[in-house]
Amino acid sequence: MVGIDQVLTKLATVIDPDLKKDIVSMGMIKDLELNDGNLKFTLELTTPACPFNDQIEQDVRRAINELDGIKISDIKVTAKVMEGRSLDADEAMSSVKNIIGVASGKGGVGKSTVSLNLALALAQSGAKVGLLDADIYGPSIPLMLGMQKAFMEVDNNKLQPVEMNGIQVVSFGFFAEQEHQAAIYRGPIISGILKQFLVDTNWSNLDYLVVDLPPGTGDIPLTLAQTIPITGILVVTTPQDVASNVATKAIGMFNKLNVPIIGVIENMSYFICPKCSDKHYVFGEGGAKRISEKFNIPFIGEIPLNSGIMEGSDKGKPVILSHPSSPSAEAIRMSAKNVAAQCSILAAKLKEEMQGATA
Ligand code: ADP
Repeated sequence: MVGIDQVLTKLATVIDPDLKKDIVSMGMIKDLELNDGNLKFTLELTTPACPFNDQIEQDVRRAINELDGIKISDIKVTAKVMEGRSLDADEAMSSVKNIIGVASGKGGVGKSTVSLNLALALAQSGAKVGLLDADIYGPSIPLMLGMQKAFMEVDNNKLQPVEMNGIQVVSFGFFAEQEHQAAIYRGPIISGILKQFLVDTNWSNLDYLVVDLPPGTGDIPLTLAQTIPITGILVVTTPQDVASNVATKAIGMFNKLNVPIIGVIENMSYFICPKCSDKHYVFGEGGAKRISEKFNIPFIGEIPLNSGIMEGSDKGKPVILSHPSSPSAEAIRMSAKNVAAQCSILAAKLKEEMQGATA
């Protein structure tokens, strides 16, 4: 008669393709019950947005089916996002498991567009998500969400994020007195505002906080990297950007500061012909892949150049919500899954380092 130990041994043959570890030692099997050959358990994945979730579940079922006399009566599949940042060192933001900074070498590459659609895609997968528009000089998230008139309440000296489309949003744009008003502040004030937005906000149990940084390597990206532990940085490039090496400066800065790079994503990569649906790499192909190889950082994905993305942003209707089955939305969802997977990998590494430090 097969017992629980044999079931666990068999389940341990299933390897998480991202974490490269078996699912039993990763603690993904919970509440296992075996009664007269009927097996029941919970499979707890590391993120609801993992690109391999279906594959892991299939591998689990296949492994159990190989055991004689065991029948699966119930597998509950859930996800609990891992902590990709040291919460002990950062009590002020202990309700935020992962912080993803979105950076670019220069402006206009679609960093805000990517940040917003990424946040929405992660939320659609079932994660709890916040979006901090840290582009204090030119906050564009309120316009992109069609919420220019929104304002943040203050509760017990804490900012209350604005809830919109299932994400919690904070933006300096909610404070600007007039639309299109430019913020003119010096570095230390800007850094202070960012710190307040991060720490003095009532973020409610976030799996991921996406931080849309201003372009370049100025005060705000530096403040984010030095104020609080973050999971890592997602670098947005365009094909032209690759040619001018501008993205590599941002990567260089975060490398110097020992901030992990989650990966590189190329926006406006290709154009999909409306007649033949072929992809045309108008500005050259494979730039982000080359950057990822050169710096040994993950390649996250390519987003097409699409007028629907631009119109959606201008009208407060992000493409992932307005055209969810378009190739652009599909590309963003795939990239969001890859970002979530990289966060899990960084979280597993952090856990190992912390266990190593206390051993
Ligand atoms: P950044 O934050 O890097 O300055 P934005 O996200 O504000 O860039 O994007 C700049 C402009 O490019 C906006 O008008 C936006 O709608 C447009 N845009 C961004 N990504 C795409 C895309 N993939 N296809 C078409 N237009 C895009």
